[in-house]
Amino acid sequence: MDRRIIGVETEFGVHYSHPGSRPLTPEEVARYLFRPVVEWGRSSNVFIPNGSRLYLDVGSHPEYATAECSTLDELIATDKAGEIIMQRLIDSATASMREDGFEGTIYLYKNNADSAGNSYGSHENYLIPRTVEFRRLSEALIPFLVTRQLYAGAGTWVTRPSEDAFGAAAQPHFAFSQRADHVWEGVSSATTRSRPIINTRDEPHADAADYRRLHVIVGDSNMSETTQLVRFGATDLVLRMIEAGWSLGDHQMENPIRSIRQVSHDLSGTAQLNLRSGRHRSALQLQEHYLEQATRFVAAHGPHHDRVAAVLDLWERSLEAVRTQDFTGIDTEIDWAIKHRFLTRYRDRNGLADDAPRLDQLDLSYHDITPGRGLFALLQSRGAAARVLTDDQVQEAIDAPPSTTRACLRGRFITEARAAGQEYSVDWTTLKFNDRPMMSVSTKDPFATTSERLDELLATLPQPSAADDPTRSGPSSIRPV
Ligand code: ATP
Ligand code: MG
Ligand code: MG
Repeated sequence: MDRRIIGVETEFGVHYSHPGSRPLTPEEVARYLFRPVVEWGRSSNVFIPNGSRLYLDVGSHPEYATAECSTLDELIATDKAGEIIMQRLIDSATASMREDGFEGTIYLYKNNADSAGNSYGSHENYLIPRTVEFRRLSEALIPFLVTRQLYAGAGTWVTRPSEDAFGAAAQPHFAFSQRADHVWEGVSSATTRSRPIINTRDEPHADAADYRRLHVIVGDSNMSETTQLVRFGATDLVLRMIEAGWSLGDHQMENPIRSIRQVSHDLSGTAQLNLRSGRHRSALQLQEHYLEQATRFVAAHGPHHDRVAAVLDLWERSLEAVRTQDFTGIDTEIDWAIKHRFLTRYRDRNGLADDAPRLDQLDLSYHDITPGRGLFALLQSRGAAARVLTDDQVQEAIDAPPSTTRACLRGRFITEARAAGQEYSVDWTTLKFNDRPMMSVSTKDPFATTSERLDELLATLPQPSAADDPTRSGPSSIRPV
């Protein structure tokens, strides 16, 4: 595949602070958050004009699943746009709550665990050809996923280390990944009970004869655009090598779940991981190996997109930083290093102990999506977090779907159907008007950006005059928030 479809799903943590005011359960807060969504789409599970999906499952973790993207820029922009969409939901929920006499403050966190120990995810979806044997692909991929935390991790300050069976350091310390401690299996079809690294549920959302959708559920949610670039960019390169049959060697791990914890809790990157072959490798050695192979692969085949050089460069600099333990080369670009720099400086300036609760709070605040309050957003506004995109690119992705995938068909369909006041149903692979189900449009090819059937279907819509249709007043009226 020259291009690959990638999408990322983010579940957000919800917190409601209400000093001196009436409490609300997280479920009640989530319902306030989704009120405009339900009013807009008559459901708490909707596709929005940028082609993405907003979803509130039972429980209290609102989810935003990006539309299908085929460039890293589209993916990062669409994901970041989701944070702004969620912020708009916070604003409207706060206003509704005030009317009902609730004076508290809503916080949404783009992180992966709450203080009660529940974990929620950042799920990556990669389109892969059906011809690649799935078992071989996942086995080859797992050692990479276990060790890519060295640059993809969001970092976490562990103030109260658990006495778990995997030998995690017993002292308070900084770890690469928050999610790592919440993963319990290598490859499985479960998502919650025994949370795996790769979920094998086979729902391709595309023609099943040609494609599979690889569902990677091990990652941390990232705040930093540059971290996202190297996380998705490096994973795509490793997938390309596997697909091409490029030899990566056998690095299957004896116990991936033990290893992922070892790697997370060892900032030196040197902890020895047991391989099934009886050999040992450190996370650094494994990642150096993958990087070297990717560099050779790109030299042999040429870069397949214009961000490849940037991906390889940041990958290389991240490993260099871990190898030398001098993090200054990446501390505006890699989430864990940005967070580590701020927290250690704060600790030192204020003479705090490593188990100070304030460090926990600042760690959490890094993931607070509200501009002007969240730590990451503040650091970015001060130039302490590098960017891939401009504000305008992110703003545009709030309403505009990615232009290189079928998401643009979905976006157009939703926009036009709503403008005409037409009842419709949408999922990842179908678009239909409820009163004409026989004319439904199948969008099984995720790369298709044009569809004659869709043109024909939309041509059947009555053309309302702008004057008598209130939903036709402009783009801002055709989104839930
Ligand atoms: P749920 O979250 O309800 O368990 P799910 O994990 O199947 O469902 P969704 O939340 O619906 O997934 O999100 C699907 C994600 O997969 C989206 O980010 C979307 O962009 C992406 N996606 C859709 N089709 C494909 C495809 N053919 N290949 C890769 N990614 C895809
Ligand atoms: Mg989902
Ligand atoms: Mg999912």
